[in-house]
Amino acid sequence: MKWYQMDVDTVEQKLHVTTKHGLSDKQAGQRQKQYGPNQLASEKNVSKWLIFLKQFQDFMVLILLAATLIAGMLGEYVDAIAIMIIVLVNGFLGYFQEQKAEKSLAKLKEMSAPIAAVLRDGKWEKVPSRDVVVGDVVRIKSGDRIPADIRITQSSSLETEESALTGESLPVMKHAASIARDKLDAQDQVNMGFMSTLVTRGSGRGIVVGTGMNTVMGQIASLMVKTKKTTTPLEHKLAELGKILIAVALLLTALVVLAGVYQGHPVYNMFLAGVSLAVAAIPEGLPAIVTVALSLGVQRMIRKKAIVRKLSAVETLGCASIICSDKTGTMTENQMTVKEVFLNGKWLNVTGDGYDLEGNVILNNDMVDRNFPNLESMFLYGMLCNHASLMMKKGKYYVDGDPTDGALLVAARKLGLSHQLYDNYRVVKELPFDSDRKRMSIVVEDDNKMRFLITKGAPEVLLPRSNYVMREQGRKLMRTEDKQEMNLAVDKMADKALRTLAIAMRPLAKEESLHSAVLEKDLTLVGLYGMMDPPRKGVKTAIEECRDAGIKPVMITGDHEKTARAIASELSLLPEDGVVLNGYQLNTMSVSELQNIIDRVYVFARVTPEHKLKIVKALQEEGHVVAMTGDGVNDAPAIKASDIGISMGESGTDVTKEASSLILMDDNFATIKSAIIEGRNIYENIRKFIRYLLASNVGEILVMLFAMLLAMPLPLVPVQILWVNLVTDGLPAMALGLDQSENDVMKRGPRNPKEGIFARGLGFKIVSRGIVIGLVTLIAFMLAYQGNPDNLIYSQTVAFTTLVMAQLIHVFDCRSEHSFFARNPFENKYLVLAVLSSVLLLLVVIYWSSLQPIFHTTALNLKDWVMVLAFSCLPSVLFGFTKK
Ligand code: ATP
Repeated sequence: MKWYQMDVDTVEQKLHVTTKHGLSDKQAGQRQKQYGPNQLASEKNVSKWLIFLKQFQDFMVLILLAATLIAGMLGEYVDAIAIMIIVLVNGFLGYFQEQKAEKSLAKLKEMSAPIAAVLRDGKWEKVPSRDVVVGDVVRIKSGDRIPADIRITQSSSLETEESALTGESLPVMKHAASIARDKLDAQDQVNMGFMSTLVTRGSGRGIVVGTGMNTVMGQIASLMVKTKKTTTPLEHKLAELGKILIAVALLLTALVVLAGVYQGHPVYNMFLAGVSLAVAAIPEGLPAIVTVALSLGVQRMIRKKAIVRKLSAVETLGCASIICSDKTGTMTENQMTVKEVFLNGKWLNVTGDGYDLEGNVILNNDMVDRNFPNLESMFLYGMLCNHASLMMKKGKYYVDGDPTDGALLVAARKLGLSHQLYDNYRVVKELPFDSDRKRMSIVVEDDNKMRFLITKGAPEVLLPRSNYVMREQGRKLMRTEDKQEMNLAVDKMADKALRTLAIAMRPLAKEESLHSAVLEKDLTLVGLYGMMDPPRKGVKTAIEECRDAGIKPVMITGDHEKTARAIASELSLLPEDGVVLNGYQLNTMSVSELQNIIDRVYVFARVTPEHKLKIVKALQEEGHVVAMTGDGVNDAPAIKASDIGISMGESGTDVTKEASSLILMDDNFATIKSAIIEGRNIYENIRKFIRYLLASNVGEILVMLFAMLLAMPLPLVPVQILWVNLVTDGLPAMALGLDQSENDVMKRGPRNPKEGIFARGLGFKIVSRGIVIGLVTLIAFMLAYQGNPDNLIYSQTVAFTTLVMAQLIHVFDCRSEHSFFARNPFENKYLVLAVLSSVLLLLVVIYWSSLQPIFHTTALNLKDWVMVLAFSCLPSVLFGFTKK
């Protein structure tokens, strides 16, 4: 018998579990050990050896190795071995960089891994989906990906989309009843939920019957095709640039070799020097360092509670010019508290804060109780038409579920309604809440088999559906005056920044149809709730900081226009001449009409998720780089269409998370701002080390080229060139990738996404600094050579030391867009350490007598050092006074 043919009791027995209690933690642990994690077998990892060997596949490195081999065979053992060792160390460095990047990417993937709600030992818990085991009772709701194959045990308007399995993109209704037929295809097993398929509507529960590779999804082999590693636009741009740089480096190196041979240097010497120079000058490590910088930046973002799902988002973040943010939960606390109630034409206040149950219902300073006409039934309706539960943790109440629903539970408890009342009612049907409908309904049956409908939702949505209104004397026909009175009450609440919610009901005749299309009409409006949701701490400052940084924050909310306006004013988000648009106005506008005014709009109220897409499009047409937040399943298209899609870690659905490129672990607007600062900083750091590496390379090539053109001896021998490449390009460049941001990074406007890598004067800085580094090295070499024409090793040591020191001083210059003196050079501890260790290695190479023959060096005296330092400071001092 198949799972879909069994009834729920049989499934429970077979899997030794009950839907009331779930598995025990012990059982779950045992099953995890027995069956392994609930995940599809992924492509095998690339072997570490291969990654290591990959470091040597570069064409020039291969030529260098071949040349070294020849040198070795010709008897130049020392040089050959030294070069081999340096190339090997370089390979290790590249390997470790790549490993680090891989590891942090894997960690990221793990952090954004899906979560499942499971019942263990009678309590609902959230566990990573990979820990779900056969027999687990799971809860699913709209927006979730189903964590494993489940036999559905309970469903409420549950619909799933199984196109990944069946190719059919229309949603399938799911229910719990067993099916007698046999040999059903997946799409006909309507009481089963399949791993990785999507819940598009409603909610439900189920028992896990298959995990990992033992699921229908696991059997589809094609899914296990390795997904290609994607490169970010910057990595792509750099790869393109790399090709040009290789060509230029090769050309210049060829020039050096030709000039050298022409001036009478032995061909073999020039060849080895040329190849070493090419290896040093070609920035083959650039893409790897960029990936490391990106992934290290991403880790810093994690510490600030932002998880980057797509590395490319890091770059785009720095270009964001608009942040469209949800209000509820992102700009506000999402801790709803009912503060006011409008009932029987009277205003009642509810005291107390947050989800604390302390509080009373007050009318004109006097406490009222359940006998106040209609109050008990209004609060009871609010309790029944509800999906949340009140839970206790460390002596404090919190809400599991929608905070709006939670607020209604707390209000009911303040009036003394206990949750035992639930036992008197049975839910027969449910039409779930979503942001498009802006309402939720249930049909309940009481002990006397009397049925009635309860609907709660946005007042403007419920009022047109209501023909009656509840009054002290009972139900009466809704007149125009009653409608006006209700609208006025809604406005009054909204003006105080309260979220408004209406509650209505309809008694149902026994035989009345429960079809969704006909249920929510002819209602009796009972009353209105006004809920407070205070702004989050820190959001106001974050909004100001965004504005200083040239980024416009925009509020998008499903709430009432006036509520949105009031909160936006509280947060100083809405300037005096700022426009507030609502969903009805948006409906009547074309994208181009919207485009005309969109730059003046700061708040969009009463919007549905479809509107969000229209807003994104209009903004993008206006040339903006748009960051858009979202949490519900219907927000996914807008998130996908935006330049930076942002989802909510706490309240978001799996679908929005998958569509997004950034997840906010704390759902907080201020976190978006932190991520943008980090995004800008990472990009600036990448510019910093590109500037450093390329200027150093220009210097290295030029010193050789100038010397050859001037018919001088070689200023640097091959091992020295390779050593410079290894030591100065390695750690200091990495440390620049970890640099702190400049103070004004959030005072500059957003970066133009079309700008090239060398924009904003970077190209000039590279070439000018490079030329001067080359020149000072050459001059130091010439002076040393003139004084000691017989001691070439001495002059080469001077040139080598000057070049290294000039680069190590220049690295501090690269930290600022402005000038060397604009920043405290000791601020970046990693850089100070990297430079100190490079200096130490330099001293070792110069002064350790056993290494001197290998590196062709000799000890320098104090006078030499004065000259070396004077020359090596020159480039930074010279340019320290200009901003160019
Ligand atoms: P955003 O998160 O985009 O700022 P929002 O969360 O306030 O907006 P929605 O959740 O779409 O927007 O809510 C819109 C309206 O729907 C609310 O103002 C309220 O009147 C009503 N509403 C909200 N939650 C519920 C619920 N659980 N049941 C019934 N009605 C609800």
